Order: sequence, then C-alpha cells, then structure tokens
Amino acid sequence: MHIPRDVSLMQWFPGLRNRLEDLAIAQVMAEILLRLGASGGHAAEEYRLLLGALEQLEKGAAPPDLLARWMAELAEVLGYAPGFEFCAQCGASLASGIADIWPALGGGVCAACLGTRRPAYTPSFLQEWMHFRAQRQPSNDPQCWQRIEHFYLHYLKVHTGSLDTLHSWNWLSQTRNVLSLCHPNEPQENICETNNPSWK
Ligand SMILES: [Zn+2]
Repeated sequence: MHIPRDVSLMQWFPGLRNRLEDLAIAQVMAEILLRLGASGGHAAEEYRLLLGALEQLEKGAAPPDLLARWMAELAEVLGYAPGFEFCAQCGASLASGIADIWPALGGGVCAACLGTRRPAYTPSFLQEWMHFRAQRQPSNDPQCWQRIEHFYLHYLKVHTGSLDTLHSWNWLSQTRNVLSLCHPNEPQENICETNNPSWK
C-alpha cells in the first residue's frame, strides 16, 4: 500500500474559479468523490473523470449537461449505472419503453412489473432520461439536464448511502437561483419542481 508523503499543486484551475456556477459544479464533483472515499478500487478512473470535467470547465466552454454526464459516467465507473434496455425486475426487453425507474433495483421497469402502482417519475422525464441515456445529450428543453442531475444524485445516494446532506449541492442550487435573478430574460424553473418527492 502506497501512502502519499508529499503533495504539490499542479493545476489550480484559475479560469473556472472566475465563474461562480462552474466553481460550484466543481465543488459538487469534489465533494461527491470525497464522500465516496477510496473504497472500491476506482480511484484512477474517478481521477480521470474529475480531471476531464475540470479541464472542460477551465476552458469556459463546458456543455450545459456536463454535471449530468459526469454523474452518469461516475455511476458506470462505480459499477451500477441504471439499466434501460431490460426491465430491472423481470428482465423483459424495454425496447417499447419504460414504465418507471426503480433506483434500488438499478434501472427501468416494464409496464407489467409496474402494474397498477403509480410511477415515481413522470412520462416526460422518463422520455428525457431515455434520450439522455441513448445519446448522452440533453433534449431541447434547457432545464432537462438539471432534472437529470437531480435524478442521478438520488440514484447515487441510493446506491452509495454516503451522499446525504451534500453541502455543495445546496450551494450550486443557490448559485443558480441567484444567477437566474441576475439574468431574468433567461428561462427559469425551480429545479426541484417535480411530482416525485424522492428527488428532493
Ligand atoms: Zn418487468
């Protein structure tokens, strides 16, 4: 086992520090990885993922779905990315669509397994998520990627059990709210506005 005895600062990303939202996004990524700790043997992959995202933020041209994509890739690195091709309950093909997502089971479920239960996620969100999973790009809805961020935070919480009270998440939400007040002409939406209380 190698124990670090000395560290030095190689890159402090001055560009992203000049932009509040980018800095808040970077803090969310860092806090998530700190909370996950070093267990599982994914440290090198997690580092590569974090460095790639920080370099994109540093350039000031990160896509709006950067954090959502980063969280989705992190779930894959950790080994429990939510499945969308086969029902997480019965294994049936989901080619004709998913009826709901059951995070604890690890992905989408079919209409037969959902039965008469009320789905936790709205049909429009399920469509957004399937689009995101298939193409890894946000839909035309500019707020889509924030809803997907919320989904993945909840999903990661369920599977890691170590991401409750993520301080940087609240900071990111507040930063975005303040920035939306500074730019009133841009579309605004409460990113926590959803029919699914488990997102909150
Ligand atoms: Zn099923």
